[in-house]
Amino acid sequence: MRVSLTRLLPMEGAEEQLPDICGPGAISLNGTLTFLGTGTSMGVPTLGCQCAVCTSVDPHDRRLRPSVLLRWTEAPPGSERVVVIDTGPDFREQALRERITHVDAVLYTHAHADHILGMDDLRPLSFISERRGGPIPLYADAEATKILEQVFSYTFSPDSTYLTRARVRLIPLAEHNTVLGVDFGRIPLMHGEQMIAGFRFGNTAYMTDVSAIPKTSFALLEGVEVLILSALRHTPHPSHSTIEQSVAWARRIGARQTWFTHIAHDLGHEETNRSLPGDIQLAYDGLSMPITL
Ligand SMILES: [Zn+2]
Ligand SMILES: [Zn+2]
Repeated sequence: MRVSLTRLLPMEGAEEQLPDICGPGAISLNGTLTFLGTGTSMGVPTLGCQCAVCTSVDPHDRRLRPSVLLRWTEAPPGSERVVVIDTGPDFREQALRERITHVDAVLYTHAHADHILGMDDLRPLSFISERRGGPIPLYADAEATKILEQVFSYTFSPDSTYLTRARVRLIPLAEHNTVLGVDFGRIPLMHGEQMIAGFRFGNTAYMTDVSAIPKTSFALLEGVEVLILSALRHTPHPSHSTIEQSVAWARRIGARQTWFTHIAHDLGHEETNRSLPGDIQLAYDGLSMPITL
């Protein structure tokens, strides 16, 4: 079957034709969220670094590039749905660790290298997806779409002659995105000078690479019970919040539990978590928790 490499309109996707049984105000589903990676862009240990965290023997101090995995079981026929937020350079290793055997959709927060470079590792999974009904939908805003099309031109160019390219299609990210019946609301966030996307799904929000949260975005976070927020280190950075800043936002949002991600090698897991309140903790790679979608 010939695969169209052009960007399809949202209405053309097979999954959009499914009844929206689990959107806002509808029946909720039980799902699981797993941290595929919790490290900053360089990963921890950082290459060439001999600091205490980079040489730590605590497995919690090994952090792959940031990404989360969501799984839920669809109402009859009961198939397992798998959605990934960002595919960083460690995606292949993360997918093997979490025994990911298929991916139904990917949502991108933004197109920095640590969030997109694993896109190509979707290839074998995308062949499975294609056999099941179509290419893997990749949700990305206009800026991220432009970069994905440049970086992976051999995948997205209509002139591509690369036969084993990923079977994926870009879908413009909307304010609300219904992915296999689950609503993923876009939460606008500032990452330095750039506006990027966080996501709200059911009782959970995923907000990485945040340096500022626009006032209007706080309203979109009302009722969030599980909050995932980036917190780089204690020292200020132009495009990432510090632990102190993220603690203040976590308190303002008031989730039952907040998990920090996108963590630099400045922060040792045990020591940092001892210094934080119990309802605000550093996450770690492989940490899994139930969520409601
Ligand atoms: Zn990042
Ligand atoms: Zn970034």
